Amino acid sequence: MVKTEQRHLRLKEILLAKKADVEKDIRQHMARQVGPENEHRLDSALDQGDLSSIDMGEGVDLALLEMRNKTRKAIDQALLRLEEGSYGYCEECSGEIEEKRLKVMPFAQLCIVCQRKKEELEKIEKEETLRDTDSA
Ligand SMILES: [Zn+2]
Repeated sequence: MVKTEQRHLRLKEILLAKKADVEKDIRQHMARQVGPENEHRLDSALDQGDLSSIDMGEGVDLALLEMRNKTRKAIDQALLRLEEGSYGYCEECSGEIEEKRLKVMPFAQLCIVCQRKKEELEKIEKEETLRDTDSA
C-alpha cells in the first residue's frame, strides 16, 4: 500500500472513532436528560441540527448538546473531505497536517507551524481588543 493510502485509512479511523465517541456522548447525555418518550425524536432532531424540537426537562445542557451535534456534523464533513482527498492538509502552506495533531484536533485546518503563527497573531489582536474595551 502506498503511503498516502495508509494515511488515508488512519485518518479515517481517527474520524470514525471520534464520531462514535461523540454519538455515544450525545446518547448518554440524552438518555439521562430526556425521557424515553422523546428518545425516538432524537435522531431526526440531530439530523436537522435542531434540538429545540425535543421537549427536554429542566437542567438540560442544551448548549452542550448543540455543540456535540455540531461536532458530529463537522466529522461528517471531514469524512467527505477525506474521500475527496482534501482533508488533512494545511490551509496555509498546503503541507500535510501531522496525524498526531489530527488525532487530538480532527478539525485542525492548519499545520502546527502555521497554527502557532496564527495564535501569536490572535494573541496580539486579543490584547489590543482588551485594551480597547478597557478604555471604552
Ligand atoms: Zn502549514
